[in-house]
Amino acid sequence: MFGIYAPGHEVSRLSYFALYALQHRGQESAGIAAADRGGHIITRRELGLVSQVFTENDLHTLAGELAIGHVRYSTTGSNAWENSQPVQRSAGRNGTSRELALAHNGNLINAVELHDELSERGVTFSSTSDSEIVAALIATHPAERIEDAIADVLPRLRGAFSIVVMTKDRVVAFRDPHGLRPLALGVLKPTEPGGEVRHCVASESCALDIIGATHLRDVQPGEVVTLSEEGVQSRVVTPDARKAFCVFEYIYFARPDSRMHGQVLQVARGRMGEILWREAPVEADLVIAVPDSGNAAARGLARASGIPQDDGFVKNRYVARTFIQPGQELRKHGLRLKFNPLPEVIAGKRLVVVDDSIVRGNTTRQIVQMLRDAGASEVHMRISAPPIKHPCHYGIDMSTREEMIAHGRTTDEVAEELGCDSLHYLSLEGVYEAVGATRATHCDACFTGQYPLDRTGEAGGKYALEGGAVGREADEPGSSSAQSGESQALPLVRA
Ligand code: SF4
Repeated sequence: MFGIYAPGHEVSRLSYFALYALQHRGQESAGIAAADRGGHIITRRELGLVSQVFTENDLHTLAGELAIGHVRYSTTGSNAWENSQPVQRSAGRNGTSRELALAHNGNLINAVELHDELSERGVTFSSTSDSEIVAALIATHPAERIEDAIADVLPRLRGAFSIVVMTKDRVVAFRDPHGLRPLALGVLKPTEPGGEVRHCVASESCALDIIGATHLRDVQPGEVVTLSEEGVQSRVVTPDARKAFCVFEYIYFARPDSRMHGQVLQVARGRMGEILWREAPVEADLVIAVPDSGNAAARGLARASGIPQDDGFVKNRYVARTFIQPGQELRKHGLRLKFNPLPEVIAGKRLVVVDDSIVRGNTTRQIVQMLRDAGASEVHMRISAPPIKHPCHYGIDMSTREEMIAHGRTTDEVAEELGCDSLHYLSLEGVYEAVGATRATHCDACFTGQYPLDRTGEAGGKYALEGGAVGREADEPGSSSAQSGESQALPLVRA
């Protein structure tokens, strides 16, 4: 997710390259909305990668002075054009009309409730995403100023959200009171000496680096930041909520060159590898990473252990990340395309194999088998995250509890399932030590089951807003909500 207010700059081109840098956060659709001050908002959004969606001609058509952009992924069933973003809405109010575009990273847990309320007021929707609900709440709000509308709507939204809203003359960014999803504020240098300093926001600081912007600071939880002709203005709407930044962003989701809470993730992930070795040393000949997700932690582990490190796999870099492709079948096929083991490096060796996380275990099981087939004499898996046992309701799609290999199994039982000689997961204390943070200000619910927001279990299921059949009973058959009384992992993940 990206937003920029920068007259004098090529805002659609800068948005395009920022989205390119954020492609890892979503690969199903991409979109950019742009406007001239006072003109109309133009949106281009389509299913596909950033490089597939936009042409040179699109970027010319999207010419303007301010823009927002979005990349998205979801689980199967929600990957539809209608749910691509930015969402564009307009609404008549007080005899005038408010037109806006909105992009959202996160997931609301009270989407059904808000949808019901708006429907009763006669508001209609063209998508099944909770993001359009937020757009409708803001578009129809009677406040004259968009910031006042947002300040009133923000406390009514429950769940995870970092959001950018664009009107014809400003970009307004805001973050949920718990700060679950990241949002960085950046500054662009003037295009000419004495020119105006302009600003932008992005889900990760790597997107700021790519376009030559400087990371000023993170948008604070509960803060509303306006980028406009007046520069940057800020107000904190809900300052007192329990902070709950997603600890999985440090471990897996964000790019290693991003900075979050003062940490460069590449460095933090290296420390995770060092601590992994401290927690579970083993006699071995070679350290290898599962590329690219295990690279930084493998380097840290090799450094701490003194065991040589090499590439055990060659990765095809043109195959999308398997974790975020929809559907089990695609994941299986995707893996064979993605990794090719190097028998000349591996054969006869006792390997320490480092990866960042295990969800279903299908990928890891195949990796272990590929290494054995290539002649490894021992395979010791080291994972730079604790066992994932609980679904995320805050914007990371992790499948149902029953599909998670660590659910209901001891570490030894998981090792047996995977076919490896030993397995160690980094402790939760080890994660926090590596990132220099504490549990008090973070969410680690997928590891602990301790959700930081009240009533998280009431979140709607995968199809809660699908086909007009709004209702919690619309969960997938066999989902965790049906079986455990707690709702399903969330479907709508976007950046
Ligand atoms: S449940 Fe896990 S993935 Fe979801 S926000 Fe919390 S730490 Fe992040």
